Amino acid sequence: MTNWVYMDGKYVPLEEAKISITTHAFLYGTACFEGIRAYWNAEKEQLYVFRPREHYERLADSCRILGIALPHTVDELCRITVELFQKNQFRQNIHFRPFAYKSKEKSGQISLDMRNVGDAFFIWAQPFGKYIQTKGAKCCISSWRQTDDNSISRRAKISAAYILSALARSEAGHNGYDEAILLNQDGHVSEGSGENLFMVRKGKLTTPAVTENLLEGITRATVIEIAEAELGIKTVERAVDRTELYAAQELFFCGTGAEITPIVQVDGRTIGTGEVGPLTQKISDLYFDIVYGRNPKYSRWLTPVYAK
Ligand code: PMP
Repeated sequence: MTNWVYMDGKYVPLEEAKISITTHAFLYGTACFEGIRAYWNAEKEQLYVFRPREHYERLADSCRILGIALPHTVDELCRITVELFQKNQFRQNIHFRPFAYKSKEKSGQISLDMRNVGDAFFIWAQPFGKYIQTKGAKCCISSWRQTDDNSISRRAKISAAYILSALARSEAGHNGYDEAILLNQDGHVSEGSGENLFMVRKGKLTTPAVTENLLEGITRATVIEIAEAELGIKTVERAVDRTELYAAQELFFCGTGAEITPIVQVDGRTIGTGEVGPLTQKISDLYFDIVYGRNPKYSRWLTPVYAK
């Protein structure tokens, strides 16, 4: 079956979605993107895109920070996503990647001044299962430090920043861990290589504040909202120290890819009982019910792909 890609206003087969080696983003990482999921509900025979609007709003912010012109409004991007999925006739879980990037230098000369470089855009979608292949992640504190907002900001989802994520994730894997946790330049906990982090400490649900050099995750915002609305638990957003993680009762990652992934070990220390914590389990159950369209209260977060 053809995997259709939306590229610069057209639908093209994946094999034809090519870029030149002269592409600025390829040479310098001058691009930003989103990672979004859609969930297939077999009972309802429906594919639900999870919070596409919020992802596209973040993409627009990333573009603004980087200086890339996005060719579509958020509404148009939501509509194109549904059209792309219908064209692909997807009937399984999907991960998709809207990607806005600096393409060709207008003068034909090499230039770092991004004002001289054109913009381009594609959306590539593919079937996707679990991102972190374990029920409970064993983690390390990375020897790599998070980039600062005044160097390569993590607030924007910038391709070049993922060099750091890739180094941290590869190092963790090399040393036998499932995932890395990055400290920022101040020595505070920021996030995982591709996910945000929550802890339960002294009974309080706590997560690093958005000013601690991290991506302002859509899943993070989802967890904060459902913990309060469904469990009456207010999340504390503040600076978190490394040793607080060791002393936590529960820890978990959250992200579009990671969904809700419990963390059972950090730097060889067992977290809590070493099992999935009770609050983590509750949040995980709520999350999966919502994304699969089993909780009508949150249908506003879901965009159904197929007309019923
Ligand atoms: N931090 C980083 C570095 C990420 O790559 C991701 C995944 N996009 C997240 C956090 C989680 O963000 P979200 O919940 O929006 O997927």
